[in-house]
Amino acid sequence: MLDYEVIVIGAGVAGIYQIKRLADLGVKAAVLELAGDLGGTWYWNRYPGARFDSESYTYGYSFSRELLDEWHWKERFSGQPENLRYLNHVADKFSLRKYMQFDSRVLAAHWDEDQRLWRLTVRDEKNGSTREMTCRFVIMTLGLLSQPTLPRLEGMDKFKGPSFHTYYWPQQPVELKGKKVAVIGTGATAIQVIAEIADKVGELTVFQRRPNWSCPLNNGEISQEEMADIRRRYDEIFAACARSPGGFEHEPDRRGFYEVSREERLKLWDKLYDSPGFGIWLANFREIFTDEVANAEFSEYVAERIRRRVKDPAVAEKLIPKDHGFGVQRVPLETRYYEAFNRPNVHLVDLGETPLTCVTETGLRTTARDYAFDIIVYATGFDAITGAFDHIDIRGVDGATLRDKWRDSCSSYLGMMVHGFPNFLMPAGPQSGSASTNYPRGIETGVNWSTDFLKDVRQRGVTRFEPTAAAERRWTDHVVGMYSMMLMRKAKGWFTGYNSNVPGHEEGKVRYFVYNGGAPKYVNIINKVAADGYADVVLDHPLAARDRQPHAAADQAAAAQAR
Ligand code: NAP
Repeated sequence: MLDYEVIVIGAGVAGIYQIKRLADLGVKAAVLELAGDLGGTWYWNRYPGARFDSESYTYGYSFSRELLDEWHWKERFSGQPENLRYLNHVADKFSLRKYMQFDSRVLAAHWDEDQRLWRLTVRDEKNGSTREMTCRFVIMTLGLLSQPTLPRLEGMDKFKGPSFHTYYWPQQPVELKGKKVAVIGTGATAIQVIAEIADKVGELTVFQRRPNWSCPLNNGEISQEEMADIRRRYDEIFAACARSPGGFEHEPDRRGFYEVSREERLKLWDKLYDSPGFGIWLANFREIFTDEVANAEFSEYVAERIRRRVKDPAVAEKLIPKDHGFGVQRVPLETRYYEAFNRPNVHLVDLGETPLTCVTETGLRTTARDYAFDIIVYATGFDAITGAFDHIDIRGVDGATLRDKWRDSCSSYLGMMVHGFPNFLMPAGPQSGSASTNYPRGIETGVNWSTDFLKDVRQRGVTRFEPTAAAERRWTDHVVGMYSMMLMRKAKGWFTGYNSNVPGHEEGKVRYFVYNGGAPKYVNIINKVAADGYADVVLDHPLAARDRQPHAAADQAAAAQAR
């Protein structure tokens, strides 16, 4: 007897919408969430300055007109407390909490071929007890950036004061006044936190290994009148997001970079630099992403803007990336980040010159000297995209682990299914359309597709589904192929699976995590798959014919059939 027909793992933005769709279908389902409450990214990341870099009104769910009409986004790029309130409001409005089990860490998910079900081992984080749960279908909504990573430095447990990763910023306010604070890292998170706390701490020392290209967020309040106008335009706004490659309102400038004069280019860039949000990245010339010369010219433009904002030319040069061009890594957006370095209490340490050697009882040591701190903040990023999967012992057919399958890179069918792992869905998985888009727009696409698929499967009485090995290869080749056009393939960032703190993810090996074809193309492909009756997914084949064979033999048979 199954405990649930579907178990959803993760109660973040994706899990919340997924359970809403399942509840509407009347499926017996539960959501397991490691945290003490819902919200995912917006539950955990409570560091000062945490906020959207998507326009708030494009980040909210689009599925309910009533919800759209009643919610007032107060800022163009809303902050973490408001975002968490929003997600709680959604869960309460649609009575979704009753499906959620919090403090529930999924340790293992093992496929039982005989019974055609998943067996989950779940630990109660409050009392340490474990329980087993079974379900026919499992849906992974684990989040792309939910596995924080810390440096591998000696002495990290020796530091006497508070130290934490930004993801685990304490829920209670942290007293910063007069404190000597270290921030390690200069990614999107650090850029938000540094700018926000620079005038609230005693001394702030930023430890930078490599700078990032960053441009102004240009946030602002949304008045009642503006919000009323946004509500009237919601259909138009979501249609624009659906048309754009990134799922944002920003659409690339269709003019060729070389077709317009340098003056025209500068005019566009000046406008974009002062405009809100990702326009500077996504409403720019398309060649910025693919052409080294175009990219270098624009990078130099941004470098010049940084020089204008940072008073000390030596500090400005350190804040300008020299190892990669603009936008080939995920672009952080900032609010007076560069001006923070003009403050006398803010110091920049270049780890390229003097690397960190260890953490001491009183602070940090570099090859040059010791630094004393009251608080150390690690803004050191995430084991992105596959990290959260790797932390669960996921075993599919014949006990094969997903961790092993994805050890060198990952492979998937449409970013939503994996061969060898039947009855397993990832609406926002690696290589899906959501990893590189305005996340909720991608999530709604993935959840809708997965739910429609499950609806179909249930109607047909299917108890087992699995994409073919050949289809998975085709999709993965397609994803890999698209990297060859992108300058991004050379970048050391989470889009290519680089993380110096995760063994095996250091420099050198590109991981093909992200679908680079843009949202419209992705949606067309997955909709066609559905319209064609999911031809690449093997549905409910008889136990006698296939499931009693060793899996490798079944793979060979499927591959032969595909040829
Ligand atoms: P990140 O972009 O991976 O940045 C991590 C930073 O820590 C990098 O500067 C990295 O330096 C540094 N670092 C890592 N390990 C280190 C070590 N051992 N020693 C010294 N420095 C080390 O991570 P993130 O800033 O958390 O951002 C991740 C993603 O989260 C973003 O790209 C974005 O997608 C999302 N995010 C979004 C928002 C938003 O506005 N909505 C805000 C924050 C984050 P290297 O570059 O040299 O490795």
